[in-house]
Amino acid sequence: MSNDPLTGRCLCGSIAFELGGDVNPAVVCHCKQCRQWGGHAWASVGGGVKNLVFSKGEDKLKWYESSDFARRGFCSECGSSLFWQAHKLDDHKDHIAIAAGCIDELGDNHISKHIFCAHKGDYYEIGEDGVPQLDTH
Ligand SMILES: [Zn+2]
Ligand SMILES: [Zn+2]
Repeated sequence: MSNDPLTGRCLCGSIAFELGGDVNPAVVCHCKQCRQWGGHAWASVGGGVKNLVFSKGEDKLKWYESSDFARRGFCSECGSSLFWQAHKLDDHKDHIAIAAGCIDELGDNHISKHIFCAHKGDYYEIGEDGVPQLDTH
């Protein structure tokens, strides 16, 4: 999908950004790290790092190295869980996952799949919403 740039912001508004170019369909990740980080399953859309432009507050963005290959970006003012990036993998580092909940209008970009369902919490079931539920990704 290639449309007008998407716009988004963190909860407090300190960080605002635009995402142009191709945007991948939304996915929901049920892995333990995403649930710890975001409070529950984490929904994101994917885009190109080069297409992500900060209109405000890039200096408020903090990165947490969450694994050997990936990092998670959050607002240092309000704690919003904004970005996930496999920045240490050569074939992934140009791509970034952006919290779907922080984007103003996603239009017809709806959830396309659930990933890491084998790692979901035992406190909920993933409802049948007509899209694949994958054990990994
Ligand atoms: Zn914020
Ligand atoms: Zn995850």
